[in-house]
Amino acid sequence: MIIVMKQSATQDEVNNVIARLEKLGLSAHLSQGKDRTIIGAVGDVSGLQEKPLQSWGGVESVLRVMKPFKLASRDFHPQDTLITVGERTVGSGDFHVIAGPCSVEGREMTLELAHAVKEAGAAFLRGGAFKPRTSPYSFQGLEEEGLKYLAEAREETGLPVVTELMDPRDLPLVSEYADVIQIGARNMQNFRLLREVGAQEKPVLLKRGHSASLVDLLLSAEYVLHQGNSMVMLCERGIRTFETYTRNTLDLSAVPALRELTHLPVFVDPSHAVGLWNLVSPMARGAVAVGADGIMVEVHNRPAEALSDGPQSLKPERFRELMSELKRIADAVGKKLPGYEEARARL
Ligand code: PEP
Ligand code: MN
Repeated sequence: MIIVMKQSATQDEVNNVIARLEKLGLSAHLSQGKDRTIIGAVGDVSGLQEKPLQSWGGVESVLRVMKPFKLASRDFHPQDTLITVGERTVGSGDFHVIAGPCSVEGREMTLELAHAVKEAGAAFLRGGAFKPRTSPYSFQGLEEEGLKYLAEAREETGLPVVTELMDPRDLPLVSEYADVIQIGARNMQNFRLLREVGAQEKPVLLKRGHSASLVDLLLSAEYVLHQGNSMVMLCERGIRTFETYTRNTLDLSAVPALRELTHLPVFVDPSHAVGLWNLVSPMARGAVAVGADGIMVEVHNRPAEALSDGPQSLKPERFRELMSELKRIADAVGKKLPGYEEARARL
């Protein structure tokens, strides 16, 4: 249930509505817009009638949200959610590029790649230290050692670090080093993990599961939001279809669809979507054109020797070219590429 307060509503009236909802066993979530306050009543609202609620002091209108997700819905929070990480604000209309290796494989390569992607104009550094691998015999990640290399790379470049958390037991460790905690496609419906990241303060990058619908993705985001963490970025990374030429099928329509459904920022990961380096740039360019808030791209200095996802990794030179292609499209659609513009200015 969404309760829209009158423009003239006083703080006492807002507090009173919240107190009455809580007395009814509901949780009240406040969304304070520029000229309106909206209160989301979350819980079992089946016994609530709109009419009596409308007579509460300061209430202008009451809407029943028919969508299964509430806090993630644009009905509840009409303005875009902005997520500030260091000097960057995601969701503000700028286009942020998260780049780096699939896995952190060692100190030298992590530092080298961090400098390379920063000089090319990336705004965030990515790298997995805990790797979700299909086979138990594949490289599983350097764990804490890898997190330390990422932290050192942040220290040297200033780039905030995005890295994956796979198990709630590793949350204290990962959040000590990460600026943004990534929840991977395979864990999108690990509800315990979602609750844990919802109950802490770092922003979360939530990737769409291989077979998840947009509603499934938004319900997973709802788990995080419901625990009190409002900083969730969504990431379309391709879904399973009958097509096998590409690793997955990039659902670019997810971007404008999610824009309508939710106020949360939307990223695109073209690397895991296509699985082939030569198709990454065209899809990345598409992501800017359809209005994404950013992309996540895998970059490796020696893709042929990469311990994971070499075939889809761009070499730094190709990534540099991609950044200048993105710039031209960003200009055309009126978006800024903050990392890129700063990198140009440093030259
Ligand atoms: C990743 O980004 O490192 C990753 C494993 O991606 P996904 O969870 O989308 O497969
Ligand atoms: Mn990968």
